[in-house]
Amino acid sequence: MTFLKVNQNQFDMNKHFWVLSIMILTLLFSGCKGSKPGGGFNLFSKQQDAELGLQVKNEIESNPSQFPILKESTNREAYKIIRDMTNDILNSGKVHHRNDFAWEVKIIDDDKTLNAFCTPGGYIYVYTGLIKFLDKEDQLAGVMGHEIAHADQRHSTRQMTKMYGISVLVSALAGNREQLAAITAGLINLKFSRGHETEADNYSVHYLSGTKYNCAGAAGFFQKIQSQGGGAPPEFMSTHPNPDNRIQNIRSKAAANGCKMTDIRDQTRYQRLKSLL
Ligand SMILES: [Zn+2]
Repeated sequence: MTFLKVNQNQFDMNKHFWVLSIMILTLLFSGCKGSKPGGGFNLFSKQQDAELGLQVKNEIESNPSQFPILKESTNREAYKIIRDMTNDILNSGKVHHRNDFAWEVKIIDDDKTLNAFCTPGGYIYVYTGLIKFLDKEDQLAGVMGHEIAHADQRHSTRQMTKMYGISVLVSALAGNREQLAAITAGLINLKFSRGHETEADNYSVHYLSGTKYNCAGAAGFFQKIQSQGGGAPPEFMSTHPNPDNRIQNIRSKAAANGCKMTDIRDQTRYQRLKSLL
């Protein structure tokens, strides 16, 4: 794991700060354990997910060489399509933190990267490479449902709670810029646990069951990947060497849910989106 490296000297020099941090933490985090849904101990409050997400978003968007965000002013139609899609999922009535998080969508202009990710607090980034790779709106909706689930189920902060413990997180949250930058970098490359990946797949089905989309749309993504013989592993494949299991899991969740497992008939909007990029 390369999530965050703390320099030992810096750690010693800042000892007093750490003690103070732990004291602050006790105040800061009291009364927010055992957060639901999804379970798993989380030191962060949902407000802190939102704040951390905003900081990460600012880091991302101040780094255009690594994250070349597609300009909104000259790509209004593409943004409208991707936002309409996202809103369909968000308004399914099944997203727990629908009104707590920002749920902003940005397109990253990078055809070589087959990926999407979502920060804590709901800042969603979709690469042009992923949009162009897929054939159907349902497949992209499935991936977006998965990414929305990571934020909605607060997987990053649950994972960070488990990995770093109190002092590192308090320091970062208290504005230690170096650590925050490291956490930001780490969040982008964060490997979720297998459990969280499966949970995000399951929630993708759950969210999409409240939309017009094929609720097993995420399975369509994996089939497409397999038909192409692999390629660069995107975030949602990172911890699962065998996508077969995920396709089966997504399909059986959808079958148990009883939701629609056919793609929407009219894919012209998706073709239009692709042609705009
Ligand atoms: Zn994932």
